[in-house]
Amino acid sequence: MAKLKKLEDYRDEIERCVKCGACRAHCPAFDAERREGRVARGKIALANSILEGEVGLETKVLEDLSQCLLCGSCCAGCPNKVHTEDIVAAARRQIAEERGLSTFGKGVATVLGRPKLMNLLAKSGGNLSSLLFKKLPKDSGLHLRFPAPYLEKGRTLPPITAKPFRERVPEVIPGDSQQPTVLFFTGCGINYMYPAVGEAFLKALKFLGVTVIVPKDQACCGLPAVSAGATKTIESLADQNLAAVNRHTFDYIVTACASCNSGLGNIYADMGDEFKAMSAKVMDIFVFLANHGLPEKLEALPKAKERIKVTYHDPCHLRNQGITKEPRQILKALPQVEFVEMPDAGTCCGLGGTYSVYHYEHTKRIAARKAGNIASSGAELVATDCPGCIMQLQDGINHAEGNQRALHILELLAEALPDQG
Ligand code: SF4
Ligand code: SF4
Repeated sequence: MAKLKKLEDYRDEIERCVKCGACRAHCPAFDAERREGRVARGKIALANSILEGEVGLETKVLEDLSQCLLCGSCCAGCPNKVHTEDIVAAARRQIAEERGLSTFGKGVATVLGRPKLMNLLAKSGGNLSSLLFKKLPKDSGLHLRFPAPYLEKGRTLPPITAKPFRERVPEVIPGDSQQPTVLFFTGCGINYMYPAVGEAFLKALKFLGVTVIVPKDQACCGLPAVSAGATKTIESLADQNLAAVNRHTFDYIVTACASCNSGLGNIYADMGDEFKAMSAKVMDIFVFLANHGLPEKLEALPKAKERIKVTYHDPCHLRNQGITKEPRQILKALPQVEFVEMPDAGTCCGLGGTYSVYHYEHTKRIAARKAGNIASSGAELVATDCPGCIMQLQDGINHAEGNQRALHILELLAEALPDQG
């Protein structure tokens, strides 16, 4: 059974914070508000006070701890490599255990913890799409027609599919027996909102002759529940995913979502030996493709006469793991792409799970800076490796009245690969 770490287990990590303040320069929450309480050292001090019983769990404490995107950006600039994101997540769990989940957190736990209910709600949303949403110009997303709890009317949302990706494809797609077998962990974003990314994933792996398994019974990785502090939901989802994965024999678990990659590859790794073994097999799609010779094969394709300018946004959950080179390597090798780097490609887009639900105005400020950087690169497209970032980047671009589109690198890759019947 999956077991998450408690706040108590982070005591050593908390004590490693020397309050130097180097994290200020890297924290998007601080940048959005310029308030000292928003920066990592303030949150670590608060977590320590909760641990020592020096503060009660009053509303102000909850508010301060909600002001974190769990992006891990601060760790990069921290001399002692303190993982504030893990400490804040553990503090939120402790608070939820003592005070109960917030109303939003209860909603997240109810839906994510019941995959059949989630499937039903998503399909209903897909079928009622034209009633609920209005289309934005240039296929840049949807707006809600009516205000809804926790969702701003002016927020750009992707369409929800009436037929989830995992219901469109067989569970096993055989390839060449000489090639590895990959288990595709799709995540909810690809399954319900970006099925074209899932199709593109299959096309890329078919091109390499790889056998792909898409377990029908995989569940959400649990990252939204991490943000909400819903301990039991995260543990239950991890158990469901371990059981789904263990029904198959494969070489790698491959993700095309940075958040799923971090959930399965990092958070699960701390949940017990069986989970650690599973986490060791987790790999990002572009690491897999780069390791299996795709850039060289792409370089051999004839270059397009007219190429489109594309820039890349580093999702925090990949950047934190040092995965920055491989997605760029694939993009640069695409025959129809002229790659341009944008300033601060590695800064957070501002989504941050519950942060963007509770603090949408701050989220918009963070996204506005990102939209400015995309525009200054001269790119027409911003490609990334995370459905959540795609949604957030497009929202930022639309608020800035830009005309760029956000998309997954796999969609560009699928365009470049020959049809294989
Ligand atoms: S940079 Fe690290 S050690 Fe310094 S205050 Fe921030 S979290 Fe603490
Ligand atoms: S995890 Fe991100 S938002 Fe939270 S304190 Fe660190 S840099 Fe700031």
